Amino acid sequence: MSQTTLIERYQTVIAHIKQLSHQYRQDETAVTLIAVSKTFPSDDIRTLYQQGQRHFGENYIQEWSQKTEQLSDLDIDWHIIGQIQSNKSRIVAEKAAWVHTIDREKIARRLSEQRPTECPPLNVCIEVNTSGSADKHGVMAADVLNLAQQVSALPQLRLRGLMCVPSHPEDAQQLQQEFALMQQLFKGLQAANLDVDTLSMGMSADMEQAIAAGATHVRIGSAIFGQR
Ligand SMILES: *Cc1c(COP(=O)(O)O)cnc(C)c1O
Repeated sequence: MSQTTLIERYQTVIAHIKQLSHQYRQDETAVTLIAVSKTFPSDDIRTLYQQGQRHFGENYIQEWSQKTEQLSDLDIDWHIIGQIQSNKSRIVAEKAAWVHTIDREKIARRLSEQRPTECPPLNVCIEVNTSGSADKHGVMAADVLNLAQQVSALPQLRLRGLMCVPSHPEDAQQLQQEFALMQQLFKGLQAANLDVDTLSMGMSADMEQAIAAGATHVRIGSAIFGQR
């Protein structure tokens, strides 16, 4: 894709997010865009950075690690939105600003231990398995509060909230149920006095429903960068 087209698509997504934020939440700034750049080159990231974009999402640690080197002159907030194997946690602890996919205490503890003390705490979200299917990532709804309490006790992490990838985004009713569950779990954390402010949900295909359901961060890839 040409850089001109990329910028146009990016501006279209930004305008759409503002419009939906205004429409559903009466606040144009209620929703933060995370531009999901997995599989796309560093040059595309640099182009959007020059347009003012600061939050970028990546899934694959190896690929992301190369990009951090190619883009080390930029002040990017990197969001890790893919699974983290234990043996890859160190670079995440050192170079990411956020991890959205915390699904067990062990990886949370490891990231906290490996987070350099001169860095601010690593922002983290717990990934929820909103459909409860065994083949999906994330923790079951019933285990969210327990894990949230464990994570919030770790010194070098800051628990920000919850994240999900809906099981069947093409099924409007199922989607609405899963987003409603996220809202309910989020309120449960607040009721338990956990200081959370983030609902990370909404991708290219389901951004409007997610914003309507209270998303604070949307993770948009293909609508900006094109098909992978
Ligand atoms: C790839 C990915 C996205 C972006 O998806 P698009 O449909 O391309 O917008 C968002 N979240 C996660 C967890 C992803 O893996």
